[in-house]
Amino acid sequence: MKISLFFLVLCLALVVSLTSSGGFTWKHLFHALGWILIILFVAFLGLRRMFGPMRHLMRGVMELSNGNLDFRFPPKGRGEFDFLAFNFNYMADRIQDMMRSKDQLLLDVSHELRSPLTRLKLALEMAPGHKLKASMMEDIAEMESLLAALLETQQLKSDHGKLRLEELDLSALLAETAAKYQGRAPGLALRPGAPAVARVDGARARTVFQNLLENALKYSAHQSKPVEISIEPRDGAVWVEVRDHGSGVPPADREKIFEPFYRVDKSRAKETGGYGLGLSLCREIMRAHGGSITLEDRPGPGCVFRLVFPR
Ligand code: ADP
Repeated sequence: MKISLFFLVLCLALVVSLTSSGGFTWKHLFHALGWILIILFVAFLGLRRMFGPMRHLMRGVMELSNGNLDFRFPPKGRGEFDFLAFNFNYMADRIQDMMRSKDQLLLDVSHELRSPLTRLKLALEMAPGHKLKASMMEDIAEMESLLAALLETQQLKSDHGKLRLEELDLSALLAETAAKYQGRAPGLALRPGAPAVARVDGARARTVFQNLLENALKYSAHQSKPVEISIEPRDGAVWVEVRDHGSGVPPADREKIFEPFYRVDKSRAKETGGYGLGLSLCREIMRAHGGSITLEDRPGPGCVFRLVFPR
């Protein structure tokens, strides 16, 4: 577009200079303008054809950076663009392979660790009482829940983690989950909403609600304002928002907190200690439903997490 404009300005400047130098009539001027328009049109078409594939390539790069690792360019001819597209496809294949091996490794390790852990737990239960027994049992329970979260996340990515979908009222499910946290500071304020029915895996939707409510309460425990929860059917989907007024997440960490084992506070303080697996599990669950989970960019302290369940 900019190049076409440049040509237009150049041609107009030429015409103006010719008219001002005399010997050039209005008829000549209209003729010249006609030719300029034709040349511009042809140049525009030519440039569009030349740079069109670039736009296509840019789309591919954006798809890949947004996490769509399945995007590939269809095989075509032999030009420079096709060479670039071929290499792009090769790069996407390699990235996808690496991601799959990483996921498979996590899945295998989690699987393999479960049996020795169960044996350890049984042996410890049968062992005579010792002052360290209770804390060792606690550690084992923590490792078990970590492995369960890891397995669940990895299985959802593979075909084995199929959802058990059913028509459910998410408003009722959310209210039921919130009721479990009664009495926890700084409290939960659930805005009553109309029934919001969607096809979801109830157990997994509950896991997402629990993780979000648990986090919101944990990271705003010292605040006076309660955690606000809302749910509404909107744009053919069900939207859930959980807003707290706690410590918030720095902008640089907004996307990273959905990655496994990522924690903003690396020190794992006793009160907020976790492994950074909850939100990555939530993201996999929401993706498996064809929905999304996002941390919204809103003014003020605290966090606003939004879930969108397609109906
Ligand atoms: P964790 O078990 O560590 O809470 P999550 O995956 O649930 O793991 O969360 C990842 C990180 O995101 C947390 O360690 C915390 O730093 C940040 N985070 C999540 N929810 C909130 C929140 N409501 N307020 C502030 N930080 C949060």
